[in-house]
Amino acid sequence: MAATLTIKVQQNGNNATVTVANKVIDYEVEGLVLPELTNHAFAVWHVLPAAMTSGAVIEVDGPVDPGTRRAAQKFSETWELWRPGQFKRVQVEAQRNAPPASPGRRRDLAMYSGGLDSSHMLLRLGRRPQRACALTVQGLDYGVDAGKSFNSLKKKIEPFLEHLNYDQVVVRTNATAITASGRHSYALRLMGAASILSGVFEEGHFAADCTHAQDMLTFPFGLNHITNKYFETDDIVLRPLEEDVTRSEKVALVATEPIALNAISFCPDRSVAPYNCGQCEKCVRTKMMFMVETGAIPPIFVDTSFNAHTLDTLKLDDSKVALFLLRHISGRALRVFWTGCLDSKRDLLVNLPQDQKRKD
Ligand SMILES: [Zn+2]
Repeated sequence: MAATLTIKVQQNGNNATVTVANKVIDYEVEGLVLPELTNHAFAVWHVLPAAMTSGAVIEVDGPVDPGTRRAAQKFSETWELWRPGQFKRVQVEAQRNAPPASPGRRRDLAMYSGGLDSSHMLLRLGRRPQRACALTVQGLDYGVDAGKSFNSLKKKIEPFLEHLNYDQVVVRTNATAITASGRHSYALRLMGAASILSGVFEEGHFAADCTHAQDMLTFPFGLNHITNKYFETDDIVLRPLEEDVTRSEKVALVATEPIALNAISFCPDRSVAPYNCGQCEKCVRTKMMFMVETGAIPPIFVDTSFNAHTLDTLKLDDSKVALFLLRHISGRALRVFWTGCLDSKRDLLVNLPQDQKRKD
């Protein structure tokens, strides 16, 4: 018989806690007044990654809408289908149905990390005619204890958000450390953070990670076109945007807007955050995209150099790294990638990891 994870939510103004299996997930909302949490769906999304690994029943000691219960179950069933050895379907129960959501809620919630994908999404949406909301989650790229560097990020992105007419809102949570870890959890972390604001917003959007075609390279990835569609509930609808745009194409657009370039922060090296080191694998491949798309490396990197040694960072002898590069570079950049400086490594790119090979 499957174990049960009982969830209890408590709220104190703009702070909330979720107690589950003797652990506590903390939430703090900054930038708007958090209404009374009449739907505890957000906790379901943040506990789901852990429940999927054991097939535990999620039992919420509070109100949850039927749409969230159905969507969360469907999400877990899909990953069980894809990776039956790792994940199990999860049943979601609640003490009662959430009351109907209040009418007239806002539809202008944008998930915004300061990275390339979400910066590109905001640029494509353009300046908002009315003040909109950009939500950055502390507890994803930046840990909840990384207050100093996260505050630097907030300052860095402020002019860009002001330019596009957004208020800055932050949800600070340790959910990733407690129950929402793992590759399968990426989109669930966003949905949980958006859902805690469902008293204010009925709809929001986030940037899709890869194109439809790229999804098939490293399937299954946490953000993908199949499960991204499940985030339509009675509580909140979170829609993926820019679903067929490659990272190279995103670079090309962001490069045309100095205010976006000055804001952008994607380097995983927290010692230089919110700046971009220019030396790690992610910075190096993004440098390559800037070179291909614009002919130059912009001064958004601490180290703007690029030479033969720079490519050593890419560890192309690791076929998973090569696969990852392929997934993010396409079109014009991919052709340069193939025929130019990395030509000698071509044979490595066909040695896909074992689990990517078809077993007929
Ligand atoms: Zn870096």
